[in-house]
Amino acid sequence: MKLKPTPDQTITLKSPREIEIMREAGRIVAGIVLELKRAARPGMTTAELDRIAADLMKRHDAVSTAKGYFGFPGYICVSVNNQVVHGIPGPLKLRQGDLVKVDVAASYRGYVGDTAASFTVGPPSPQAERLMRVTEEALFRGIEQARPGNRIGDISHAIQKHVEANKLSVVRDFVGHGVGRSMHEAPQVPHFGPPGKGRLLVPGMVIAIEPQVNLGQPGVRILEDGWTAVTLDGSLSAHFEHTVAVTEDGPQILTLP
Ligand code: MG
Repeated sequence: MKLKPTPDQTITLKSPREIEIMREAGRIVAGIVLELKRAARPGMTTAELDRIAADLMKRHDAVSTAKGYFGFPGYICVSVNNQVVHGIPGPLKLRQGDLVKVDVAASYRGYVGDTAASFTVGPPSPQAERLMRVTEEALFRGIEQARPGNRIGDISHAIQKHVEANKLSVVRDFVGHGVGRSMHEAPQVPHFGPPGKGRLLVPGMVIAIEPQVNLGQPGVRILEDGWTAVTLDGSLSAHFEHTVAVTEDGPQILTLP
């Protein structure tokens, strides 16, 4: 989500029962990401990926939380190559080697699962492979910090440290977020910043952690469609996201297929 200067600070904690429903929602969206990965091939449009996701949501009694969000027209976001996030599904045809990001968020029994992944159409170039690998590793470094007693900044710092150690850059314009009945709740979860700062993590918090990582510089701009974020320097970008519950037993990823 877009970084907001004065966000709502109210964190809604979830009961174990609510977390179990969120795990169901998470399983649905994670399954959709897998299907999209399998389906993507040269010549297919991003609108066709959107249609597949819409059909799967319907089959699982899940409702897209992207569709109609401030007027967003797609069921999912599909961003290709230098597009970072919030790409609108449409007539763009996938080509061999394209780096595709799908971001799938849907509500099931009143609770949201939110996940994103990057993949290539056909085998990745060495550059794309490294970018995707480091981004996903950084997500997991962040998830590892999502435990009681830590602070949001510990997640942020772990991600930034891993990305920059690999000479890549973290996008600053978008942040992770709390998830629950709404797709976007407090707290904001930046993917950069100093450790030991920000809100204390307590059991029952559920957050989406979603680093976007660029091969070049971190800057982005928004296209005329009002949604699609692209890298300022035209470089490739990758994005991975999981919805994670903070529990007494440590972090639990809710968006697994
Ligand atoms: Mg998402």
